Amino acid sequence: MFRFRDIYEIDELNRTITVGAGTVNLRVSHAVKHLGMQFVPDPSSQKACSIGGNIGENAGGPHTLKYGVTVNHVVGLEAVMADGTMYIWNCHESVCRLTPLPESIITLLATFSTIDDACRTVSDIIAAGIVPAAMEMLDNPVIRALQKTGNPGFPEDAEALLIIELEDLTEALPEEKEHILKILQKNTATQVKYAASQEERDIIWSCPQRSVRSNRRSYTGFLYAGRRGAACKAAGDFPYNAWAVG
Ligand SMILES: Cc1cc2nc3c(=O)[nH]c(=O)nc-3n(C[C@H](O)[C@H](O)[C@H](O)COP(=O)(O)OP(=O)(O)OC[C@H]3O[C@@H](n4cnc5c(N)ncnc54)[C@H](O)[C@@H]3O)c2cc1C
Repeated sequence: MFRFRDIYEIDELNRTITVGAGTVNLRVSHAVKHLGMQFVPDPSSQKACSIGGNIGENAGGPHTLKYGVTVNHVVGLEAVMADGTMYIWNCHESVCRLTPLPESIITLLATFSTIDDACRTVSDIIAAGIVPAAMEMLDNPVIRALQKTGNPGFPEDAEALLIIELEDLTEALPEEKEHILKILQKNTATQVKYAASQEERDIIWSCPQRSVRSNRRSYTGFLYAGRRGAACKAAGDFPYNAWAVG
């Protein structure tokens, strides 16, 4: 796939980008960022994985909750089967749908003393009709695994940590945020903090592989929240005084 890494066409009007199957996922969003666009499917491997692999696996990512998986963001495809048969669906190469970057984003992290509280929070948010762009949870074993490998700075007695990202029009976000804060309080979140800048937000979503490595070093067993531990490690890069009681 090394030979299929070209970006052939960016169609701003129709919000599509035509790429070779070997193009690395993150490169697609980088290529259209200046247009205020993005390619939404964001598997945690996005720095290394290819569009062809994303299509093969129908990959999602943290933002799947609001935006859907790869199948919702590919509008054309040229595929060669194992027996050499060629299928052309809509047009040549891989044509990916582009999505406008959100006007405003709020990323918040909340800790809980029980996993049940964190799970109830997720259910209550969905039941309230709020669709965050992303919600990710990590549990205490992951928090402790990361603590051992890099002092992430989260309360080690927290049983669960929830990352909630809201994306919307600037006017709509404060109301959603207030609603979510009430839900967090109802479910006795012990601490809440916000990513104060795009840089902090990027840190949260950009180090899943570091987390996988942390988990590998610390555990021989399976951790269901493995990739999500990245957020914990990332948030550990924030100053302690950013925490506030939720
Ligand atoms: C650290 C890590 C984090 C991940 N995070 C997520 C996540 O958050 N969400 C999620 O949904 N998935 C996740 N995944 C799995 C994810 O689906 C893959 O990383 C990614 O989509 C695969 O892309 P790849 O280029 O690595 O493909 P590969 O792993 O190389 O291939 C995947 C499959 O697609 C086939 N394939 C690849 N390219 C082509 C092509 N051009 N034509 C035909 N077939 C092809 C391969 O033969 C293989 O069967 C993660 C994986 C890792 C390792």
